[in-house]
Amino acid sequence: MLLENIKCYKKTNRYRCIINAKKSSDLNLWQSIAIFWNPMKMVDIPTLDLDITTFCNLRCEACGKNIPYYKKHEHYSSKMVLHDLKHLLSYINKIYSLSIIGGEPFLNNDIEAVIEFCDQSQQLGYIDIVTNGTVIPKDSVLKRLKGSRVHINISEYQLNAQQQVQRERLIQILQNTDIDYSFKPQEYWKNLGILKNYNYNFNFLRWMYNACPMRNCVVLHNGKLYHCGRSCFCYLEKNIRYEDEILDVRTIYNKNDMKRAIKKFYSIPYLKYCNYCAASFERIPAAVQIH
Ligand code: SF4
Ligand code: SF4
Repeated sequence: MLLENIKCYKKTNRYRCIINAKKSSDLNLWQSIAIFWNPMKMVDIPTLDLDITTFCNLRCEACGKNIPYYKKHEHYSSKMVLHDLKHLLSYINKIYSLSIIGGEPFLNNDIEAVIEFCDQSQQLGYIDIVTNGTVIPKDSVLKRLKGSRVHINISEYQLNAQQQVQRERLIQILQNTDIDYSFKPQEYWKNLGILKNYNYNFNFLRWMYNACPMRNCVVLHNGKLYHCGRSCFCYLEKNIRYEDEILDVRTIYNKNDMKRAIKKFYSIPYLKYCNYCAASFERIPAAVQIH
């Protein structure tokens, strides 16, 4: 049994997710052990990116979510985002760590209701908003954030002078309003390379999936769960449709079906979408802009 659990966790990389979630959430030791002991019984999601927009004011060449390369950008309404999130939560126990993200999430004027729901939901552990720090939220959003448990996670990119001023202004505002924030040093990224079909063999795909730093950066985007930002982009923009690697949350209305679907989603040995990433994962300077 223990060996099976270890294999399951190794395969789904959930050790790392649980450890990350534990660092920043209210997951105690006994809950961690319970989850570890029952990996195929518990229906929980370790970490989730909640996409609320594909708009961004930066154009990072190697954006892990390919945001600058979307032909059509969209803000998602809080009504739609929360409908999907609540639907998912109605069939699972908990999401241990949830990031409200985009694109640049503060560009979406409808973020307030998302913050409010997430802050109040008992089924969500750690919650943050991942921002590039160059967009000042509206006063009403700041008011909603003040006193909430939502953390502002500012990516510390090399920015131009004007953007740096904006970021410093944001930090000043967050300090003055006593909103919890941090600066995340981002000197280097792992490059996923040009998007094309590299045609790897199965063994190599397995290796790729296990080696990728983005694996299990699971995204809830417009009603569907994707394993990572690149697979989401491939599906939506390149029409590369591996339906067996995606979970359409909106089509499931039964706890057991959702449980089975989530287990299947996390247990895949490799992703066919990894064919569309370069295997080198070379280290490149973070946030280099497209000119
Ligand atoms: S700021 Fe973030 S979302 Fe925007 S392009 Fe850069 S990496 Fe992508
Ligand atoms: S498709 Fe595979 S290699 Fe590319 S980012 Fe996603 S998990 Fe990583």
